[in-house]
Formats: sequence, structure tokens, C-alpha cells
Amino acid sequence: CGIIACVGTNDAVDRLITGLENLEYRGYDSAGIAVKNGHGVSIYKQSGQISDLKNTIVQNLPDGEIGIGHTRWSTHGPPTDENAHPHTAESERVAVVHNGIIENYEELKSDLRARGHEFESDTDTEVIPHLIEGYMDEGADAREAFERTIDSLEGSYATVALVEGHEKLLATRQDSPLVLGQQNGEYYLASDVPAFLEFTNQVSYLEDGDVAEVSAEGATITDANGEEVSRDIETVEWD
Ligand code: GLU
Repeated sequence: CGIIACVGTNDAVDRLITGLENLEYRGYDSAGIAVKNGHGVSIYKQSGQISDLKNTIVQNLPDGEIGIGHTRWSTHGPPTDENAHPHTAESERVAVVHNGIIENYEELKSDLRARGHEFESDTDTEVIPHLIEGYMDEGADAREAFERTIDSLEGSYATVALVEGHEKLLATRQDSPLVLGQQNGEYYLASDVPAFLEFTNQVSYLEDGDVAEVSAEGATITDANGEEVSRDIETVEWD
């Protein structure tokens, strides 16, 4: 139901939790984050309140400079810890958050199962990290694997992926909102501007089919035809 992601900050965990709290108004039944630091990707996710997730985080003290977060409003599968986002595939090289519905997930899931993939959740979302990882296993780089994955998805989605070994976020949208915020080398992706408004009010609205590749060095956006585009940066007024 709500996505927040960030890169280029020195405290991704704090930014993500703030973002999740800012997205609470949209409603949710579960929440989670994935952060990446020198030791790989760590995931914390559970059904229930963001305050419960915060308690888990306080006990584990994760840190990182890049991360993704999600508040879930279940459409496929009950609100359980396993069904909470971020989702990964077997090797946990890829973590993904998603808003919306993947209409052809059953077909994709049975194809993936036939190729040996095992699933841990009931969600439609879990096919996304499995597809990305499958393409990477075939030799595709993260970007190509992400694009090939999007090509096979039908439905409505905003999704952000964090891939092990890459200090960047890959994101796209189709019939679900996704905005990019940037300020002083800090970049945010979210379903809605209030998620990151205390960190930046410089906002670009992604269009359907856009793919954003975002690192601490900058953000590049390509449109549905694969052409590099620039989306206007608007200054959003604070209330
Ligand atoms: N369809 C996904 C799920 O049930 C995402 C729901 C959402 O947008 O929060 O997990």
C-alpha cells in the first residue's frame, strides 16, 4: 500500500521508519524494511503495527546507506509475517517492495516452480524477486534482469528493487503512483510525497513505464520506450 526507499543518506533505517510512519494514513496490516550495508542485505518485516517493527529494529540495530520499506494492505494472502514485504528469492540477492496487483502471478509462479523456484509467501509480489534472480542466473545484469521482469508483468504496480552488489535502487510504475524526491545527494522513492517531505520537497512524478535507476551519484530515468528522459522537478510547498 505504501512504498518508501532511500539512497545517499547516512541513516537509511531512520529515514525508512519515518517514511513508513508518514504513510500510515494510507492504511496497512504489515510493514517491513530491507537495508544494505557492507555486510549484505538485512530484512525486518512483520504483520502488525509500525511500532512493533520499530521494537524489532531497536533490538537488532541494523544500519545502512540504502534501503526499501513497505506498508502492506493485503490483496493476495493474509497479513502474516511471511506475506509482509520486502520479498526475496532463494539466494536473497534481491529484495523487492510492491504496491498493486500482478494479475498474471499464478502463471508466472507455475513457470518459475517448473524451473525449480520455491515460494515462501502467498503473495502475487513474490514472483518479482524470483524473476529478477532467474534472469540474473542466466547472466543478465541487475538492470537488464529488472527490465525483463517488468516486461513479463501484467497488472498495476509500483515496485522498487534492491540488488546485492549494487549500490542503487531500480524502480518502475504502471497504474500505481511513484514519486522521486532528491536533495543534496539524498534520493527517495515513494508512493506519495508526504512519505519523505521532511527530507526533501524537490519532487519528480514518474510516468507509467518509466524505469528509475537511483544511486548516491544521481538518478537516471528511462521511459517506456527505453529512451533516457528528464522529468520536471517540482517544489512541493509544506503545509
Ligand atoms: N498485492 C500485494 C500483496 O498483497 C501488495 C499489496 C499492497 O499494495 O500493499 O502483498
